[in-house]
Amino acid sequence: MPGDTKYYDILGVSPDATDAEIKKAYKKLAMKYHPDKNPDAGDEFKEISHAYETLSDPEAREMYDRYGEDGPGGGFGFGGMSQEEMFAQMFGGGFFGGPMGDEGPGSRRSRTRRGEDISHNLNVTLEDLYNGKTTKLSLERNVVCGLCNGKGGKSGAVKKCTTCDGRGVKLVVRQIGPGMMQQMQVTCNGCDGKGEIMREKDRCKKCKGAKVVNEKKVMEIFIEKGMRNGEKIPMKGEADQQPGIETGDVILVLQQKPHSVFERSGADLSCKITITLVEALCGFSKILLTHLDGRGIHVEQPAGSVIKPGQVKKLTGEGMPHYKRPIDKGDLYITFEVEFPKDGWTTAANMKALEALLPGRGESPMEPELVDHFKLEDGDIDDYGAHTHTGNAYDSDEDEDMDGHGPGVQCAQS
Ligand SMILES: [Zn+2]
Ligand SMILES: [Zn+2]
Repeated sequence: MPGDTKYYDILGVSPDATDAEIKKAYKKLAMKYHPDKNPDAGDEFKEISHAYETLSDPEAREMYDRYGEDGPGGGFGFGGMSQEEMFAQMFGGGFFGGPMGDEGPGSRRSRTRRGEDISHNLNVTLEDLYNGKTTKLSLERNVVCGLCNGKGGKSGAVKKCTTCDGRGVKLVVRQIGPGMMQQMQVTCNGCDGKGEIMREKDRCKKCKGAKVVNEKKVMEIFIEKGMRNGEKIPMKGEADQQPGIETGDVILVLQQKPHSVFERSGADLSCKITITLVEALCGFSKILLTHLDGRGIHVEQPAGSVIKPGQVKKLTGEGMPHYKRPIDKGDLYITFEVEFPKDGWTTAANMKALEALLPGRGESPMEPELVDHFKLEDGDIDDYGAHTHTGNAYDSDEDEDMDGHGPGVQCAQS
């Protein structure tokens, strides 16, 4: 029916209303009658939506103005969108209570974006990993502002940036050479890439329009027995919050400080223990070491059972606890070092007595015709290889002098 103004009446606007006026009127009514807020007003909401569907589409509005509600063939559409979709598009995704228009330019409400995970190193000792530990960690992070609910200001204060049309970026054309133009995307300077702007006075008093505030949080961290260096402990949803975005995790990465006694490999431990020559030869019964839980480890080494320098022994089940089954433990490997007495430690008479007790001397391997005589000097294995050929005439002269009186040990080849 031509001249029909029903849709305009429903929205409470005049038939010559601008698109902006129609949109504004629809927003106001839709907020009031949306079934989420007003469950009894379902029919009104449908009517409002249908009217807006038609009047917001320039082509459909023209048809309606000309032919009335039933149109020439009926059926105006809003691109086949449901009322729910249309509403969602208009309000930037969020419904009542939720943050509105914060999902960023061009995003749809079905797409869940996730904030970044943040890694933090957490220093631990080998004792912590052996015994387990509860520790507290103070972290600073951004949380959604409670005063404005992450909107940055009072409702409706956020306006789409007109410079970039809410995209946060602009396309600029740059000349990069003679006759060569390049199109580049740059961050919008009108809104600093946020896609929206807000007047100073509308900004939230607490977050100053930033939507988030900094918060210090003390978290309790459980270091479980058997965890390893480099192990990651995820703290779900403890990273920086941003409105409309799923919060990422804080990931704690264990950093074990080197231990003064023990080294660890998997569930096994190793250490070096120094014993005296008497202990090495005659056995011992003593507390050999203090374990990571403070226990003394008493070891009985029977007399007659000799420990040689560099020899490795094992204590079964005295390694690290296994992660998640701490009753099971690895083994502890002990490498023995033997401390010998110093020069001049006893009298010549004692030496004779000792020699009579110990197994006999070694024999010379051969009886060569020619023998040179030496005294041993202290050597440093780090100096090994320091004598190199320099190409110097004197050096090569000396090298050719084969009389064998150099300071080093020589192989007598004859
Ligand atoms: Zn705020
Ligand atoms: Zn902008």
